[in-house]
Amino acid sequence: MHVKEQLLNLKPYQPGKPIEEVKKEFNLSKVVKLASNENPYGCSPKAKQAIVDELEQLAIYPDGYSALLRTKLADHLGVKEEQLIFGNGSDEIVQIICRALLNQETNTVMAAPTFPQYKHNAVIEGAQIREVPLVEGHHDLDAMLKQIDEKTTVVWVCTPNNPTGTYINRENLLDFINKVPKHVLIVVDEAYFEYVVADDYPQTIEWLNDYPNLMILRTFSKAYGLAALRVGYGIGNTELIRKIEPAREPFNTSRVAQAAAIAALDDGEFVAECREMNKKGLKQFYDFCEELGLEYYQSEGNFILINFNRDSDEVFQALLKKGYIVRSGNALGFPTHLRITVGNTQQNEEIIEALKDFVQ
Ligand SMILES: *Cc1c(COP(=O)(O)O)cnc(C)c1O
Repeated sequence: MHVKEQLLNLKPYQPGKPIEEVKKEFNLSKVVKLASNENPYGCSPKAKQAIVDELEQLAIYPDGYSALLRTKLADHLGVKEEQLIFGNGSDEIVQIICRALLNQETNTVMAAPTFPQYKHNAVIEGAQIREVPLVEGHHDLDAMLKQIDEKTTVVWVCTPNNPTGTYINRENLLDFINKVPKHVLIVVDEAYFEYVVADDYPQTIEWLNDYPNLMILRTFSKAYGLAALRVGYGIGNTELIRKIEPAREPFNTSRVAQAAAIAALDDGEFVAECREMNKKGLKQFYDFCEELGLEYYQSEGNFILINFNRDSDEVFQALLKKGYIVRSGNALGFPTHLRITVGNTQQNEEIIEALKDFVQ
């Protein structure tokens, strides 16, 4: 069989260890997973009810155009319905963009480390990857600009950046967007948008009219707590969305996912509470780091990257034995860090205690 050569050097996505597996392996009755930036408060009860109501319809294909969700979301965001594209998670929007804009003759520019799916999908399309190292956890926008040439078709900006949690302020991002040549699509991945509290975080949607080469990615997986249902979206220029739509599978978001997302949009209070609790949770981790003198990045997401100054797999394993699944920095380009999802108050307290035992 002749599989595309570029696939042979890729690994399938390595998910966080499943809870059940860890329970069995270490003979634990309770395991807490703080590895995949999932919402510790679940999702809105309104979303759950909408899912139950939808169960009568499972025999019927979903609306491939997601018309109801589209109308609802366009209204919520203040954009035209034609400016939206839905995906089976925003992961799929990344894939659609790569299918639509990348090939062997093109290159694509991104930070490193950043969300791995940009590179993964670009490799499959055979594009040249140009990675620009973060500087102190932040995108080096000037260096990224220097990597852009006439063969660049997509530049990726992840803000807040996964795995560092750092963000790009309004002034710096707008300056960057102004300097990127018009033939290059700028993808701003805002998967953690709803968690951001920084005053100078930009409202990028307001820029869409002025920059037809701008596209914003968001998701229902993180603050909305619907990761299992897989629904994310892109917001962009109408003409661009129309051009990339054919690269989308016909029924890529399910009936249940659409119904839940619509209901979730009606519960702004739930998201606001999660944002508030997340801010408090981050503070628990900041205090812990300050107390023990550990380096960390200020995070605008629902996760924190902490430097433990030793092989991250070691700390990861020690936590695993105590029933905490986190993300080892080794796989993320930070070999002495752990990325820990902010849990609920009690989970944070408990994992911090477990970490103290280990670090001291
Ligand atoms: C989690 C995440 C996504 C993907 O989310 P979906 O579940 O596919 O919507 C995209 N970008 C970043 C930066 C993420 O952390």
